[in-house]
Amino acid sequence: MTVAENLHAIRQKLPDKVKLVAVSKTYPANVLMEAYHAGQRIFGENRVQEMVEKYAQMPADVQWHLIGHLQKNKVKYIAPFVSMIHAIDSTELLQVVNREAAKAQRTIPCLIQIHIAQEESKFGFSYPEAKEFFLNKPFSSLENIRIAGLMGMASLTDNPDQVRQEFKKLASFFNEVKSGPMHTETGFTELSMGMSSDYPIAIDQGATIIRVGSAIFKSSR
Ligand SMILES: *Cc1c(COP(=O)(O)O)cnc(C)c1O
Repeated sequence: MTVAENLHAIRQKLPDKVKLVAVSKTYPANVLMEAYHAGQRIFGENRVQEMVEKYAQMPADVQWHLIGHLQKNKVKYIAPFVSMIHAIDSTELLQVVNREAAKAQRTIPCLIQIHIAQEESKFGFSYPEAKEFFLNKPFSSLENIRIAGLMGMASLTDNPDQVRQEFKKLASFFNEVKSGPMHTETGFTELSMGMSSDYPIAIDQGATIIRVGSAIFKSSR
C-alpha cells in the first residue's frame, strides 16, 4: 500500500468532524509530500528541531501540530508557526507558550495532556491535578493561548477493553469540564486521542482529533 492508499483507507473510516493528524516523525519531507499530494494538510511531529526543519521544507499551507513533550526553552522556535500544541503538561509551560505567542503576535491553541495510561510517565496532568487546574483557571489571564481541549495516550497493551476504558474515562472528563468550568469557552472543543493501533476505539469514544503515524507512513520505509 502506498502512503496515499493508506490515507484514503483511514479517511473512509473517519466521521466528518474528526480531524486526522498525520504523524510524520522520523520520515523525510519527500515522504510527507506523498501525503500532501493526497490532500493531507495537518502533520504532527514530536520533536521541535525536526518540526522546524520540515516546516522549512514543506509548503506553507501545512498545519503543524506539536504532539510530543515540549521543553520550555524550545517553545520560541515553534511559536511563530505552530497550529496546535497537544501536550501541555504544566501551567509553567503554558505561561511560556503565552509569552512566545505574544512575541509572535499570535494566539496558539493548546491541549492539556492528561495522563490516562497505566504506565508510569512523567508527563501529563493526573485527573485530580487537571480538575484543580480547570477550577482555578491559571490560564484566564493568558491572552495569547487558547485552551482548545484535552489530549491523552492509552496504555501500551494488547487489551482493547482496557484502551476503551481509558478513552471512555477521558471523554467523560472532557464532557464534564466542557459543561462545567469551561462552559463559557466556545473554543474548548477538541479531544485528541487514538493512534495507529487504537484510533477506531478512540473515534467510538468521541475523539475529535486522531494522531496516526505508522498506519500511514510505515509502508514507505
Ligand atoms: C508517535 C506518536 C503518535 C503516532 O503513533 P503511531 O503508532 O505511529 O500511529 C501519536 N501520538 C504521539 C504523542 C506520538 O508520539
